[in-house]
Amino acid sequence: MRSFRIKNLFSLLCAVLIFTLLPLNFIKAETPTEGPFKLPPLPYSYDALEPYIDTQTMQIHHDKHHAAYVDNLNKALSKYPNLTDKSLEYILANLDVLPVDIKEAVRNNGGGHYNHSLFWTIMGKNKGGEPKGKLKEDITKTFGSFENFKKEFKTAALGQFGSGWAWLIKDKYGKLMIVTTPNQDSPIMMGISPIMGLDVWEHAYYLKYQNKRGDYIDNWWNVVNWDEIEKRYK
Ligand code: MN
Repeated sequence: MRSFRIKNLFSLLCAVLIFTLLPLNFIKAETPTEGPFKLPPLPYSYDALEPYIDTQTMQIHHDKHHAAYVDNLNKALSKYPNLTDKSLEYILANLDVLPVDIKEAVRNNGGGHYNHSLFWTIMGKNKGGEPKGKLKEDITKTFGSFENFKKEFKTAALGQFGSGWAWLIKDKYGKLMIVTTPNQDSPIMMGISPIMGLDVWEHAYYLKYQNKRGDYIDNWWNVVNWDEIEKRYK
């Protein structure tokens, strides 16, 4: 009788333990994965770029899209702990030597994390206008005028078929250049740190501008943070 009770008590304890731990596992699966990379907070409020970029787009773009890139990058790297102490720039500039089973995931999600982290910082509330100083000088020298630079940048951004980015970079000879990349590819994958970049994925503008990518680009100039871009240029 006594041993029967102990056995029952033991089964009961086991059942309690299992039912307590099970839901914990489910909760854990929904929280972001642990890993070396973290989602940086937006440097301004979600509505700071209104009316040019709407609040809901910023919420979904930062909290869902960018968060997913960070999460999936951490998941891919978790298989290779020797990579987790490397900087994102280093990893992206050395995709060729990554293990083949994570190369695509790191390219897409690492690129996404790098590109969006940059994108948030080169926009801001009550920004726009024109660059000043050396950047203005070099833009005028390279593209004829600031107006013409904007025109060429828009043409490139419109011409990127499907999802991708338009960039202003300094090439290896120190000359300013406008380039585009598909998907989440980034100049950093060629070892070039971009000065400025525009996200032309539909998720960046579809809610407000639908299919009108050109209107999104025209309005984007109103939120461009030239002070920050000037800093990156130096
Ligand atoms: Mn995006």
